[in-house]
Amino acid sequence: MQRVALVTGGSRGIGEGISLALQAMGAKVAANFAGNEERAKAFTEKTGIPTFKWDVGDDGECADGVRRVEAEVGPIDILVNNAGITRDAGFLKMTEDMWEEVMDTNLSSAFHLSKLVFPGMRERKWGRIINISSINGQKGQFGQVNYSAAKAGMIGFTKALAQEGARFGITVNAIAPGYVATDMVAAMNEDVLEKIKAGIPVGRLGTPEDIGRSVAFLAAEEADWITGSTLTVNGGQYIC
Ligand code: NAP
Repeated sequence: MQRVALVTGGSRGIGEGISLALQAMGAKVAANFAGNEERAKAFTEKTGIPTFKWDVGDDGECADGVRRVEAEVGPIDILVNNAGITRDAGFLKMTEDMWEEVMDTNLSSAFHLSKLVFPGMRERKWGRIINISSINGQKGQFGQVNYSAAKAGMIGFTKALAQEGARFGITVNAIAPGYVATDMVAAMNEDVLEKIKAGIPVGRLGTPEDIGRSVAFLAAEEADWITGSTLTVNGGQYIC
């Protein structure tokens, strides 16, 4: 049976790796994005995966976006909450706006979207919800109280929703990537990044494909006994 997958932030970076891995396992994939039209267009031309623009932090836009995806691609069986942003600053310099933007995009988005797809999954007795958290949600990170809180929140959300989904064949899991070579990491200070690389026992940054493979593993038909877990994928940087 061909499953339908929605990957938020699915047209570049880690999201692109996830979209391609799900496509390779035979799913029909839809990729959401925020505003980088050029990148989304190039991605669709290259992969054949349709893209849908909306802000995942806005519940009304999520409802409209899911409606469009379901009308054009089909009822969503696999939801990957991947879209995310950083707005870093030391705690006392962090503004309310920086806090709210990160909470809306990185955490409330998972609430809005899971709520929209959960009823259909429950009816069809099958679903996969996979939340892309972060190593910094597990260990905390200087200058990222907003991001660390949102990503830790995703892990709690995963554990709680897994308990509600289990009897309907819906698994809910999180993945906590370490540092992956994407635009998000390219924006970091080079000295800081060198120090981070030196602290990765496997000796390299992750790739979008590393995370894509992990998502495909959790999305598989055979993964139906894995729920409520957080898969740590970080080259050994933080073992927990
Ligand atoms: P990225 O390269 O910056 O890409 C972010 C993606 O999210 C883009 O597709 C972007 O859309 C989309 N997006 C951002 N805000 C959105 C919004 N409000 N509504 C809809 N889409 C939105 O990031 P990445 O490095 O691939 O990270 C992907 C996820 O992995 C994030 O949740 C991030 O926190 C997490 N993560 C990343 C790392 C890392 O080292 N890179 C490590 C741990 C966890 P546009 O293309 O339109 O801008």
